[in-house]
Amino acid sequence: MYGPAMRFGVQQTISRDGIKMKIVLQHLTKRFPNRSKNAPDVIAVNDFTFEIPDGKLVGLLGPSGCGKSTVLNLVSGLMKATDGQIFFDDDDVTRIPAEHRGVGIVFQNYALYPHLTVEKNILFPMENFKGEDRLSKAEMKKRALEAARLVQIDTLMDRKPAELSGGQQQRVAIARALVKRPRVLLMDEPLSNLDARLRLQTREEIRRIQRETKITTVFVTHDQEEAMSISDLIVVMKDGMLQQIGKPQQVYDCPANLFVAKFLGTPPINVFHGRVSGGRLYVGEDVILRVKDVPDQEVYAAIRPEGFQLDANGHLKCALRGVEIMGRDVSVVASHPALEGEQLRAIIPSARNLDDEAAQVRFSVNPEKTLIFSKDTQARIDAELS
Ligand code: ATP
Repeated sequence: MYGPAMRFGVQQTISRDGIKMKIVLQHLTKRFPNRSKNAPDVIAVNDFTFEIPDGKLVGLLGPSGCGKSTVLNLVSGLMKATDGQIFFDDDDVTRIPAEHRGVGIVFQNYALYPHLTVEKNILFPMENFKGEDRLSKAEMKKRALEAARLVQIDTLMDRKPAELSGGQQQRVAIARALVKRPRVLLMDEPLSNLDARLRLQTREEIRRIQRETKITTVFVTHDQEEAMSISDLIVVMKDGMLQQIGKPQQVYDCPANLFVAKFLGTPPINVFHGRVSGGRLYVGEDVILRVKDVPDQEVYAAIRPEGFQLDANGHLKCALRGVEIMGRDVSVVASHPALEGEQLRAIIPSARNLDDEAAQVRFSVNPEKTLIFSKDTQARIDAELS
C-alpha cells in the first residue's frame, strides 16, 4: 500500500551519512471541537507553514499550552490534522498512519517496559517489523547493541529500567527510538524529568547523537535556554501561531515581536514605555539613544540585561534597588517610572564603580542591545540606533 519510500527499510543505517529528511508543514491546522455549548473550539495549531531542513535539530519552543505537543503529534501521525499538509521530502504523509511514517518518538516519561531488560526494551520495536523489513535475531541484537553504544548504555543491557538513573532511562528510550532507523526523530520534553545537572549533560548527549546520526529531529521544550543551546533552528510559538523561525542567535538578536523578545533570554529583556520624537528615543523623560528614519510614535523600548553600562553621565536614571553578586557577573536591580514591570535587571561585569548605598544609578545604553517595538502591533521596528 505504501511505496518503498514510505517505509523505513532495513537498508538504512544509523551512520554519519545516514538518513536525511526534510519536513515541510503547509498550512497545518488542528482544531479541537468545543466540549460545552458556550466554549469556543480550541485551535491548538493555527495555519503553520514552515520547513525543517534535512538533518537539522529544530527546537519547538513556547509557553505551556501554545501547541508544541500538538505539532509533534501531527508530525508523528498520532493525531490527524484538521487542515493542511505534512511532507517528508516529497512524500505527502498527511494521511499516512503513524506506524508507516518512519518516525521515532521519545516522550518525557520514557515509557519503558518495566519488566523487560534494557536490551529487550531496545529490541522491542524491531520485533514488530513485518514483511521485507523483518530481521533475523542476530541482526536485531547487532542493531540493539549499535544503538546502545551510540547512547553509551551498552554496559547496562541486562538491567531493568528501575535499576537505572533517570538519565540512563532516557537514553534507553532514545536507543529504542533510534533502533527503528527512523527518518525523523521527535522528542517531547525529553529532559523534563531530570535534575538540573543531568539535564545539561543529557542535552549535550542528544546534540552529539543527533550530529552523529544526522536524523532530522524536532525537540519540544518550554525552556528557552535548552532550545537555544541545542538547536540549529528554533521555532517560537504562541497560542497555536508561529511567531518566528530562525537560528537561535538571530532570533535572540532580531526578535520578530515583543513576545519573542520577552520569551528569549535570562534574565529577561527589560521593557520600557518609550517614544520616538525628533530622531530621539525617550524612556520617560530620559533620552537614551538617537534613532534614524523612524517617524515620531509611541514605542516599547526593550534593553537586554547585558545592554547597560554604569556611567556617571549616563542618560538613563534609575532608582537603585539592590546589587546581587552572582560570581562571574553582577546583577543590578533598579526601577524606573517608565518601566513596564516593577524592576529592571542589568548584568554588568563588575560593581567596582557602584556605590550600593546610593539612591540613584545612571546607565548608558548599548544600541546593539536595544530594540524598539510598535506600541500598536508589538512588531519590531527595524531601526538604526546610536
Ligand atoms: P505544554 O508545554 O503544557 O505541554 P503544549 O504547548 O505542548 O503545552 P498542547 O499540549 O499542544 O500544548 O496543547 C495546545 C492547546 O490545545 C491547549 O490549549 C490544550 O488545552 C489544547 N488541547 C490539547 N489536546 C486537546 C484535546 N484532546 N481536546 C481539546 N483541547 C486540547
